[in-house]
Amino acid sequence: MINLAKDINIKSDYLKIIKIEKKFSQNLKKCEICGKKKFEKFQSIGRIGKPLEYGKLNIVICKFCSHKFTNPRFQDSFYKKYYKKNYRKIAFGDLEPSKEYQKFQKLRGDLVFNFFKKKINLESGHMLDHGCASGLTMLPWKRNNWKTYGIDPHEPSVELGNKKFLLNIKKAFGENLPFSKNKFDLILSLGSLEHSYDLSKSLKEITRTLKKDGLLIIRWRSSKLIGSPLEYYNHNHYRFFTKKTWNLLLKSYGFSSIKHIDKDVEGYKSYLYIIAKNAKKKIVKIKSNNHFNSEIKKSQSYVASYYKKCIEFEKLYLKNKISKKNKIKFLKKHKINLLNIGKLKAMNRFFSELISFLKFLRKYEYINESR
Ligand SMILES: [Zn+2]
Repeated sequence: MINLAKDINIKSDYLKIIKIEKKFSQNLKKCEICGKKKFEKFQSIGRIGKPLEYGKLNIVICKFCSHKFTNPRFQDSFYKKYYKKNYRKIAFGDLEPSKEYQKFQKLRGDLVFNFFKKKINLESGHMLDHGCASGLTMLPWKRNNWKTYGIDPHEPSVELGNKKFLLNIKKAFGENLPFSKNKFDLILSLGSLEHSYDLSKSLKEITRTLKKDGLLIIRWRSSKLIGSPLEYYNHNHYRFFTKKTWNLLLKSYGFSSIKHIDKDVEGYKSYLYIIAKNAKKKIVKIKSNNHFNSEIKKSQSYVASYYKKCIEFEKLYLKNKISKKNKIKFLKKHKINLLNIGKLKAMNRFFSELISFLKFLRKYEYINESR
């Protein structure tokens, strides 16, 4: 059995990898959702730099509400520094969003708008794109008479959006929104709440700036993994939601009518969506939602099945049988839905992740293969 929560001694200097010179220390935090302090280690390794760059990454699961999150964490000043400059460079390899990235953002913005305009009872109003980067996902809202605003801490992205696309984006963090209360009819968060360094502050700011009965649209990464667990659990995501933990969180901040949407709106099976209403109810205490043992089991069985795929692919690899045709056959056999399945880049990435997973687990003796 492979247990990714095993304690190992890896020397990896995370701050050096993400090119931060100042020294920051990490502290253990209480659960972001229920505030309790009893955890079990869920996974001890993950991606800590660019894709395929793995090292020590501590993920815990709360024994009271079953929320999974990275713990310990740095102090807030670390994240502020990281997101202002380094984040995109580490995550995507360049400072300003590339032309290709811009093209995809526009396309995805259109898909999101066209889908959600039918789900909401609003023709127009004030909307905030929360963590919008260059804000290209706002363009269709703007074209359809919405008053659009964006925030993002990453300076080069914000400047590009404001200069080239004439958008109204403020350099700001979700933890401190530069807007008056009850300003927005709708807040769009396409993944931003998995990156917030302080989840509680971010949600309080959302409920403050959103009108009563205003809508929050969330995109999040499904807890149903497709590829490598070392990629899913990475240093740029501080929490790993399930539908249950989203419900707990949103209810505890006074949201109601929480609707989950299991549709690949943007063409990615790995993303899910939520619409919730800001009912402005009083913040309530969380009841125990104790399913952490089943979460751990689910994850272990996923790891075992992923490992099997790795071994199967490795056999092809060793026999020198890794043609494009064989790769496509492999994906079909295992019902793996990658976006642009024919696109070489996504496909090759999937297979290099398989091989890197094996290499890393062998190196640190997570697997013991007596041959
Ligand atoms: Zn908890």
